[in-house]
Amino acid sequence: MGEMIKLLDLGPEALKAELSQSLAQWEEKPFRARQVIRQVYQRCKLDFQDMTDLPAALRSNLAGTYLLQLLTPLERAVSADGTVKTLWELGDSARVESVAIPMEAGRRTFCLSTQTGCGLGCSFCATGKLGAGRNLSAGEIICQALAGIAETSLSSGPRVDGSERTSSPNLVFMGMGEPLLNYDNLKTALEVLNHPELAQVGSRRITVSTVGLPEQIVRFCRDFPQMKLAVSLHAATESLRRTLMPVAGKVSLSDLVEACREANLITGKRITFEYLVIPGVNDRQEDIQALARLCGLVPSKINLIGLNPAEGVPFRPPRAAELARFRDRLSSACSMAVTLRRSHGADIAGACGQLAAGQAPRRR
Ligand code: SAH
Ligand code: SF4
Repeated sequence: MGEMIKLLDLGPEALKAELSQSLAQWEEKPFRARQVIRQVYQRCKLDFQDMTDLPAALRSNLAGTYLLQLLTPLERAVSADGTVKTLWELGDSARVESVAIPMEAGRRTFCLSTQTGCGLGCSFCATGKLGAGRNLSAGEIICQALAGIAETSLSSGPRVDGSERTSSPNLVFMGMGEPLLNYDNLKTALEVLNHPELAQVGSRRITVSTVGLPEQIVRFCRDFPQMKLAVSLHAATESLRRTLMPVAGKVSLSDLVEACREANLITGKRITFEYLVIPGVNDRQEDIQALARLCGLVPSKINLIGLNPAEGVPFRPPRAAELARFRDRLSSACSMAVTLRRSHGADIAGACGQLAAGQAPRRR
């Protein structure tokens, strides 16, 4: 038997070409391609044998040619708040985690990973403690979304109208790794997930979070001007940012601000700055002043995140009152919208910055 083809690694055009070629070879009608696509990308079926609207012969041809399931669930943890974290094993036995956040306003949010570790080493992040991992393939990124949707829609049962289609989810690229350092695969995955004939996730429902890489930010905004961009700022002065995020030694705040301004010109949308609140480190009055000034340079909004504890992270999380007080002080110091991100799944180490794929941090 030849090497199995990973259908989920293909971009929209390559996917259509591949399927139509195979169908012709098997003397099947061309419309079968649409059926297969609907089953995989809209019904989130990752086993051809479950596609009962396809003739048995076609199902077995498909199953003999294409590999759909690129991730095996190893562990699943369910938080008291309903958040589900899944630890996946990849084909080469690398591991990665993704998180399904419960319904809010009728939609689920899936937090996806793009790398199996992260070489950028932010001092507050569990993934950073792992060191560099490998890039996920486009298929591995897509598979996290499809498998997550399939699993959570099963538990909530079929819809009243009997259809299996679940409401379109939100996808946030805030799991393990730096999405913009895996740009080509991220791009293919976004094209497939967003495509009106494939997974059909609306652009406005997709957020990519980055540590703040200027060239890649501009490239992303050119390629996907409708999607949301979140930039991890976490410090508004050069010196503080360098102590928290090694990447700040290479990317200055002024270059980052410049890229964000350019991004805004391309997309016409405000940039979301993510700001981790770390008590005693970046929550002083002078930090608030610097943050308000910096954000004033870019059409932006600020999303605050209370630091979540993680192994090897030398900071303590803020108390709820500290977080609220920081938000209030910042709101009165600046004119942009300030929101507080609700953390989900902290009790299962499934919240922002806690994903480490069940691995102990690597010793350095
Ligand atoms: N590499 C990208 C995306 C993954 S991290 C980035 O850095 O933006 C997603 C978000 O979680 C980022 O804003 C990141 O700074 C934040 N984060 C990291 N460690 C955290 C922690 N311990 N508590 C809360 N948020 C954290
Ligand atoms: Fe990497 Fe993002 Fe974690 Fe920093 S916060 S180490 S960039 S995953």
